[in-house]
Amino acid sequence: MSLRRSWREPLTASLKPPAEFYKPLGAAEFHPRPFLPRRRLGYNSAMRPALLDPLFAPVATLPGVGPKNAKLFDRLLGRDGRGALVVDLLFHLPYAALDRRARPKIRDAVWNQIATLEVKVVEHRPPPSPRSKAPFKVLVEDETGDVELVFFLANTEWIKKALPIGATRWVSGKLELWDGHLQMVHPDKVMDEEALAKLPPVEPVYGLTEGLFPRVVGRAAQAALQRLPSLPEWTDPATLRRLGAPSFADALHALHSPQQPADIDAAGPAATRLGFDELLANQLALLMVRARMRALKGRSSAGEGRIARRIEAALPFRLTGAQSKALAEIRADIASDKRMLRLLQGDVGSGKTIVALLAMAHVVEAGRQAALMAPTEILARQHLERMQPLALGADLRIALITGRDKQSERNRALAALAAGEIDIVVGTHALFQESVAFRDLGLAVVDEQHRFGVHQRLALAGKGDAADLLVMTATPIPRTLVLTFFGDMDVSALTEKPPGRVPIDTRAMPLDRLGDVIEAIGRAIRKGARAYWVCPVIEESEALDVAAAEERAANLREFFGGKVGLAHGRMKGAEKDAAMERFARGETKVLVATTVIEVGVDVPEATIMVIEHAERFGLAQLHQLRGRVGRGAGKSSCLLLYKAPLGEAARARLEILRETEDGFRIAEEDLRLRGEGDVLGARQAGAPGFRLARLDLHAKLLTLARDEAQAALAADPRLTSERGRALRALLYLFERDEAVKLLEAG
Ligand code: ADP
Ligand code: MG
Repeated sequence: MSLRRSWREPLTASLKPPAEFYKPLGAAEFHPRPFLPRRRLGYNSAMRPALLDPLFAPVATLPGVGPKNAKLFDRLLGRDGRGALVVDLLFHLPYAALDRRARPKIRDAVWNQIATLEVKVVEHRPPPSPRSKAPFKVLVEDETGDVELVFFLANTEWIKKALPIGATRWVSGKLELWDGHLQMVHPDKVMDEEALAKLPPVEPVYGLTEGLFPRVVGRAAQAALQRLPSLPEWTDPATLRRLGAPSFADALHALHSPQQPADIDAAGPAATRLGFDELLANQLALLMVRARMRALKGRSSAGEGRIARRIEAALPFRLTGAQSKALAEIRADIASDKRMLRLLQGDVGSGKTIVALLAMAHVVEAGRQAALMAPTEILARQHLERMQPLALGADLRIALITGRDKQSERNRALAALAAGEIDIVVGTHALFQESVAFRDLGLAVVDEQHRFGVHQRLALAGKGDAADLLVMTATPIPRTLVLTFFGDMDVSALTEKPPGRVPIDTRAMPLDRLGDVIEAIGRAIRKGARAYWVCPVIEESEALDVAAAEERAANLREFFGGKVGLAHGRMKGAEKDAAMERFARGETKVLVATTVIEVGVDVPEATIMVIEHAERFGLAQLHQLRGRVGRGAGKSSCLLLYKAPLGEAARARLEILRETEDGFRIAEEDLRLRGEGDVLGARQAGAPGFRLARLDLHAKLLTLARDEAQAALAADPRLTSERGRALRALLYLFERDEAVKLLEAG
């Protein structure tokens, strides 16, 4: 992993750091603004302890974060349709640390490492002519040697001011040997004594988004730290001692103001503490929800199966044994007066959707309504399109509600839903907005795909009177971990795939065979095939991903002209949907995409998946991507193009993928590989549904968190003691507060 900062960052002098950088924030400078609309999520956080309010203020309320950067923070850290909050910034942990403590003499400096040098400016060496592309160089020296500072596309005025000839300066950056000379290309810092005194010994490096500069994130993180209130300890002191973990506040300080690079280690005490906190909050919420669900009676609502049989009869295939078994289990739950809390687990392509539809049909037959919530607009539409013919054939009234509907249409749909004139509603997040009301919601199905948290699932189920809840997940989580992510849920697993699927021919080949690949694709599409072409994730920048995809699309158009489509994460929703639809209809034959296609899109005619720079993807992600093909009866292939030479871990990932299509085995191998410190894995943020906790490193904390949650609730089921109140704060902090509402509802 390169620790090199982006060269795209404009030159920044630290000669005069903005004053607020180091100054502790006084009370007078704290401007509480009205906080985010709390109702946007459809649940009310009004009971959040006031103590936490500063953390739930928008990032824009931090000093030094203007409107432009605020937008960028929203893009980087905003979630669930809300902007970035101070707490999001605090939980945006650095993924690396630049150690600026080395202060060698030039002679002793180590190449390719960061050094902070005290130098005298000797000479300015501008490019030979103003139009020349040559860099502006500045020769600096100490008594042991000299170094050239190199500035491409230099701002000459700035250089003259920041590095006047004869002055003594401190420069910090990576030293390189080039053509026999020591040089430092774009020093990260150019400082005078005063600025040097304020230089943090170790500088955290944060994930960014295009346009957001490292120093802005660093500075905002420091300001966010100043907002951190003193919070009561919610973890059992014995547990803390066992973990060797600092307090919550100390952990955040260690991570955002590291004194040594090890302070930010994902396996170190500070990150462990936060990971544990999140796991604890999650376990607590899950246990509370479960207790509540147990206490509430469900309603028996299954009909005798007339509608489901009509739908089944219209299917062009027969249900697999696994589908029938899962459906029977679900139906038994729906029919019983116990409230269903069930997970339907099935690898990509295992046929969960039809199971969901049949389950919903049972509920509708009993005179109630059902809702299916998908993680994205595209998926919601796709679910609707696939279900609609079947539903209409069985006289079910089905509708779509998403965030993108026209107001008038939306109002009509909402009214129909409330009046009970719609039997099944399919939608996105929009479904749990407060304006959405049902006449009698009996079953909420959540197509999980990692995107929704407990509170969101609950918010949807909470719209019904004792509504049953079915969560579908394509993540083949090893059974042992189901508890962790989904709590004490019953599980139905689709263990077999629909018959007639031919194994996917998976091959790995070096990128330099791109020409052959393009030729082969040309032959295949002339025979009617359709291909996905996935471009890689590059560094931390979505913009670069997009650029890579655009470039590849342009390049492929030279061969295949208008048959090439493009879909990426930066496109507007409608535009992206249109590109996907053209591909689904066969108007385009090659769909170049960033990983936006990872989630759930179903085009059975697509039989080729090309993954460029496959070595950069995680195993689970490669598996999900490959699952986009091999859905019809035709023979499918997956080409994993990698850049040689392959590292050990990447080679192992590609090997496993070639060996098996078994999602469970892949998930286990993934855990094993990541456990072994694979770099790509380490860059991946939290485990599904988590922001800080990581499966690979924090797995052993799970049982600990569960035990602690159980003990805490056993001692104080309503969380009213002092410790109980601290735990409530924890729940709010990790936004598991829907669980707190259950307490009040009693
Ligand atoms: P998942 O959501 O589990 O990834 P889908 O529900 O999208 O999978 O189903 C994948 C494909 O398999 C769809 O095209 C669906 O129509 C088809 N399918 C589902 N069940 C069967 C079955 N029993 N036999 C044949 N094809 C099936
Ligand atoms: Mg699906």
